[in-house]
Amino acid sequence: MKFNPNEETLMDRGPEAHTPELLESYHSSTYAWQPGMTDDDGNPMKLRISKSSLSGFGWCPYQYKANYIYNLSQEETEDMVRGTNVHAIVEHFWDAVKDVKDEAIELLEAGKERQSRRLLKSVIPKPPMPYLLGEDEVIDTWFEWQWNRFKVTQGYNWAAVGNEVSAHASIDVDVDLELEHMIVPVHLRGFIDTIFPDGDGGFVLMELKTGKWTPKKAKSMREEMQFYRLMLEEGNYMKYLPVTHWAWEFPRGWANGGTKAEWELEDTSTRKTSYAPRTVMNNIKKLVKAHITDSFEPAPKTWRGPDGETLTSCQMCSFMEICPAWATDEHEEEEV
Ligand code: SF4
Repeated sequence: MKFNPNEETLMDRGPEAHTPELLESYHSSTYAWQPGMTDDDGNPMKLRISKSSLSGFGWCPYQYKANYIYNLSQEETEDMVRGTNVHAIVEHFWDAVKDVKDEAIELLEAGKERQSRRLLKSVIPKPPMPYLLGEDEVIDTWFEWQWNRFKVTQGYNWAAVGNEVSAHASIDVDVDLELEHMIVPVHLRGFIDTIFPDGDGGFVLMELKTGKWTPKKAKSMREEMQFYRLMLEEGNYMKYLPVTHWAWEFPRGWANGGTKAEWELEDTSTRKTSYAPRTVMNNIKKLVKAHITDSFEPAPKTWRGPDGETLTSCQMCSFMEICPAWATDEHEEEEV
C-alpha cells in the first residue's frame, strides 16, 4: 500500500534546474552515454550521473548496465515501498510544520510540552488504509528524534530550509586511458532529502535511510553526502553553501541484523571526512571509463545473514536471466 500526501511526486516535478544553463545541460545528458554521442542537431551529449546510478555501478556494474543503459526496471520490493512511504511523510512534515512551528515554540516556552509535541505530530497524516510494512514504527522513531531536537533547540534553526532539493551540476571529468587523457562532460543530478541551517551561516545535509544501520556504513554514507555537496558546489547553489556538516538517520537501523536505530552528524572539515571528495571523484572517473571502454562486468557479492545464512546480491536482483554470471553452458548441460 502506497501513500503520498504531497501534491506532487518527485517524478511529477521534472528537472527543476535553478539556471537555464543547468536545465540545458540536463537535457543534453543521458545515462546511456557512449563516446562521440550527439543529439538530433549534432550537439555532443553528456553522461548523466546520479547518486543512485553511481552507487549502483559500485554495487554491480552489470546491474547498472541493465538498469541505466538498457533501461530495464528492478522489481519493486517491500523495502522500496516502505522507503517511499516514509520519505513521503518526511517530505510532507517539513512542508506542513511551517504552519504550526511558531505556535509549538510558544507552547514549549510556556511549559506546555505535551501540547507542543502533539501539535507538531498532528501534521503527520494517517493513510486511508493502515500501513502494511511497519512504516508507523519507523515514522514514530523519526518523529521522536525531531521532537528531541526541537526541545534542545527550542525550535530555532530546527526546521529544514531545503526539502527534497532538486540539484544539478555540470562538470568536466579528466579520465586516464592507456595512451591518452580524455575530458568527458558529465551532468550530475539528484534530490537532496533535507538541508538544515547550522546556526552559524552554514548548512547541514541530511539523508534518511530506512534500511539497517551498522557503523561500517559510515564510509558509504560520507561518499553519498559528498556527491550532494559536489552538486551544490559545482552547481553554484549559493543559498545552501557552505556545507559545514552532513548527517544521516536510520530510524529502522535495527532491521535485518543491523545494530540499532541511529543518526549521526559529522563536521565536513575533519580528517575523518577529508578523503570523501577524492574518493567520489575517483568513483565518477571509474564510471566514465566503463562507458568509454564498455566494460560492465557482473560482480556478485555474498555475505552472512542475521541467522548465519549465506546471502548474495544476486538473490535480490531482477536481472539474473540476462546476467552473464549466471549464463549456463548448454554443451556442459548436454554432457551431464
Ligand atoms: S545477477 Fe548478480 S552479478 Fe548479475 S547483475 Fe544481478 S547482482 Fe550483478
